[in-house]
Amino acid sequence: MLMSEMTRAECRDLVTRLGFGRLACAHQNQPYIVPIYFAYEHDHLYGFATLGRKVEWMRSNPLVCVEVDEVISHFRWSSVVVLGRYEELPDTSEYAGVRLQAQVRLERRALWWQTAYVASQVRGEPDSAKAVFYCIHVEEMTGRRATSDPVESAIGLSGAARPAREE
Ligand SMILES: Cc1cc2nc3c(=O)[nH]c(=O)nc-3n(C[C@H](O)[C@H](O)[C@H](O)COP(=O)(O)OP(=O)(O)OC[C@H]3O[C@@H](n4cnc5c(N)ncnc54)[C@H](O)[C@@H]3O)c2cc1C
Repeated sequence: MLMSEMTRAECRDLVTRLGFGRLACAHQNQPYIVPIYFAYEHDHLYGFATLGRKVEWMRSNPLVCVEVDEVISHFRWSSVVVLGRYEELPDTSEYAGVRLQAQVRLERRALWWQTAYVASQVRGEPDSAKAVFYCIHVEEMTGRRATSDPVESAIGLSGAARPAREE
């Protein structure tokens, strides 16, 4: 297996195309990570959530990390790590423009709002269905990509699918 650094443009292409990753935040030295959808544009990740743990933790500590990956096979994958800063986009006149921009970008994915609302049903607390639009300002973005080496390619391993999980 050969591993290489991805260019900034390749990183951007991956996060734009996938629009899905793992968002990590931390509170009092305790990390917390959940899968999320997002829309990426111009060094910003736009997301939609309802009021639960990740929003509360990002409010208290806005420094976050997002990991995005595409695994084609054991030998062929790409992974991008973003370090960024959370900013909430509240429902106020000051934020109306940027909140609308976030929504327009998120709307490129069908049912973009559904997962966040379903999460609020599990919580079942008052106010937990409150819509939260947010933006993550990208401060650092790095990518690593793996490809098969010449021997692996020669013996036909390059496109090998991931091994099936044993039940
Ligand atoms: C493919 C996919 C896309 C998603 N996209 C979004 C999105 O765009 N926006 C969004 O708000 N949510 C999304 N979710 C759901 C998200 O992963 C969280 O489950 C949800 O947002 C609730 O997180 P919370 O911090 O508010 O948890 P809370 O409702 O406050 O609950 C906290 C408790 O639930 C547990 N918990 C929360 N989420 C998970 C989880 N995913 N797996 C296991 N335990 C969990 C925590 O460990 C903790 O014990 C997505 C999930 C998937 C699988």
